[in-house]
Amino acid sequence: MDRRSFFKTSASGALAGSLIPLAGEASEHTRSLGVRRADKWHQMGSDPMGLPVRKETLHFDVAVLGGGLAGMCAAVAAARNGANTVLIQDRSVLGGNSSSEIRVHVNGVNHLKPNGIPERETGVIEEILLHNRFHNAQEAYPVWDHVLYDFVMGEPNLELMLNTQAVEAHMSGSRIVSARCWQSTTETEYRIHARQFIDCSGDGLLAATAGALYRTGREASKESDEKYAPKKADGWPMGASILFSAENMGRPMPCEPPS
Ligand SMILES: Cc1cc2nc3c(=O)[nH]c(=O)nc-3n(C[C@H](O)[C@H](O)[C@H](O)COP(=O)(O)OP(=O)(O)OC[C@H]3O[C@@H](n4cnc5c(N)ncnc54)[C@H](O)[C@@H]3O)c2cc1C
Repeated sequence: MDRRSFFKTSASGALAGSLIPLAGEASEHTRSLGVRRADKWHQMGSDPMGLPVRKETLHFDVAVLGGGLAGMCAAVAAARNGANTVLIQDRSVLGGNSSSEIRVHVNGVNHLKPNGIPERETGVIEEILLHNRFHNAQEAYPVWDHVLYDFVMGEPNLELMLNTQAVEAHMSGSRIVSARCWQSTTETEYRIHARQFIDCSGDGLLAATAGALYRTGREASKESDEKYAPKKADGWPMGASILFSAENMGRPMPCEPPS
């Protein structure tokens, strides 16, 4: 077979392969299939393609913005209490600072007391940590990402939207009615309606666009009685960190720090 006919045959084979399961799943995944049909995604070649229809409106009882540990706990708790919940996370993995992208391990109050008196986090965090102990004995960060993903996906009342950033609150008086979100992987704009919004994003962009009072930077030591805080409030947020781990390779290894 020559190069041209190989590509022709394998391209149509791959296309058929991807069409069959999609057609079979039509009833379960009508939403995403609908969008793809409108996109004429399966067309190849130089035929004129229609403009993509990539705007969707969804309704929930509770919308949690930010899929770090705080957002995961809030979303799981809401779903378990009967609320139809969506968790919107702008990254491709859950966990926020604790994810494989940043790698701040989840420690909380563990072993803070002297003389070995045990201390543990409780609630949803402890549940997640127990799953991690069981499924991720080697404590690998990429596996931790999957433990978090499985944990959230196991909740029947909870929908997860990854790679989706909440960019703007739409208000009715002083209430948030909906959040405009952008899902980068599908290039889709979502309008998320909910009765309750919980901003766990850390940065608080949605809350800020809703008109909530906010501040950035460090507060003065007097404000919260913190002796290591600066005397006067300033605009400094937490600096960037570089996290690295070291392993003895048994021989000298070159190290080239990032510039
Ligand atoms: C270097 C470092 C060391 C730390 N060490 C410790 C420690 O030893 N022990 C400890 O208990 N804590 C520690 N912390 C703090 C700990 O990371 C935080 O308390 C914890 O991660 C906060 O979780 P969170 O869910 O509130 O926020 P985050 O982990 O920041 O999660 C927020 C998530 O929301 C997403 N997001 C942001 N904006 C949007 C948006 N508009 N739409 C959708 N998603 C959005 C972000 O991408 C992120 O994934 C440390 C933090 C850092 C940076």
